[in-house]
Amino acid sequence: MVNQELQSRLIEVQSRIDVAATKSGRSKDDVELIIVTKNNPAQLVFDLLELGQSNFGENRNQEAEPKALEVAKGNTSGLTPTWHFVGQLQSNKVRSVLEYAAVLHSLDRLSLLTELKKQLAKEPGLRLSVFIELNLTGDANRGGVQPANLLAFAEQVLETPQLELMGVMGVAGLGVSPEGEFQRIADASHNLRSLAPEAKYISAGMSGDFEIAIEFGATHARIGTAITGPRQYP
Ligand SMILES: *Cc1c(COP(=O)(O)O)cnc(C)c1O
Repeated sequence: MVNQELQSRLIEVQSRIDVAATKSGRSKDDVELIIVTKNNPAQLVFDLLELGQSNFGENRNQEAEPKALEVAKGNTSGLTPTWHFVGQLQSNKVRSVLEYAAVLHSLDRLSLLTELKKQLAKEPGLRLSVFIELNLTGDANRGGVQPANLLAFAEQVLETPQLELMGVMGVAGLGVSPEGEFQRIADASHNLRSLAPEAKYISAGMSGDFEIAIEFGATHARIGTAITGPRQYP
């Protein structure tokens, strides 16, 4: 049975994506919707699969790993889910995340890249798509790669053929103008493409700001509560 409330929130977000994409001279098909299902049970994922959605985002391995397994076992939708890891990833969880996730949006530091390379070397058949997460704050103690270090960092990603560099990712800070943040992400993306033209994608935009992110070029929107409703557990 179709979850009606979920369906109407989904349709509403899709039409807002469509309007924002059109405003920036693109089409809705240029924006991939990743539905962030964190803090929601596997049932929500089953409901979304029934609604034709197959890209899901999670931010904690301890929650995502069993959920991905449960979905793999119980999925009768005919669609294959693609799992996107969007949160800060501890190095000791890399091995586990590689087992279910196809895309990592939060490659944010050298130690994580080193661990990815180490684990991928053990599994030559595995591939992972990655976005480099930017630090937009200028505060070096915060997570993410400083825009000034982006190209040097990207060169090290490109050394590993098992990693497919997709582009850059950013989270707009609270209490600052999202336009300024998304402009800096767009500038970093432009810079990255001078080194890696195929790394042209931008992961940006959440429930509160995805339309602005899309107007500034986001190609991958990570949207949770606007579609899922309030998260079911903290
Ligand atoms: C939770 C989360 C989102 C989705 O947030 P909403 O505000 O619920 O849309 C997107 N990106 C990341 C990195 C997140 O952790």
